[in-house]
Amino acid sequence: MTPRRAADRKNFDARRGSAHERGYTSVWQRARDGYLRAHPLCANHKRRREIVAATVVDHIKAPRLREAMESGDPERITASREMFWDRENWQPLCKLCHDSDEQRMEKSERQIGCTPDGRPLDAGHHWNRATVGRG
Ligand SMILES: [Zn+2]
Repeated sequence: MTPRRAADRKNFDARRGSAHERGYTSVWQRARDGYLRAHPLCANHKRRREIVAATVVDHIKAPRLREAMESGDPERITASREMFWDRENWQPLCKLCHDSDEQRMEKSERQIGCTPDGRPLDAGHHWNRATVGRG
């Protein structure tokens, strides 16, 4: 393969990746909606015997799918995807519980997940930090 063809191929893969991610997002939304209909109460509040409607499907163990995709390691991507879609690893939460510091810190120092256009939800993620010309 010539270097030029290799570059074209790389561009193609990048485009296909993002299209796939968009498709995957709508599939996820449907799966999430179905799950929330079946599990309508916040699991966290339920443990405290409080009835609060769940609006978010939380991954108990963070699959870190995006990080896996970025790593390009096929085994890691497969494992991450399995973790992502494993309903044993899902729990219904209200937004308050999902966004709470306690919940976040149990799992990691970072907020998990991304917006439909692929930006991380974590405000501290370097993609979301304003770049300031220092140093
Ligand atoms: Zn809750």
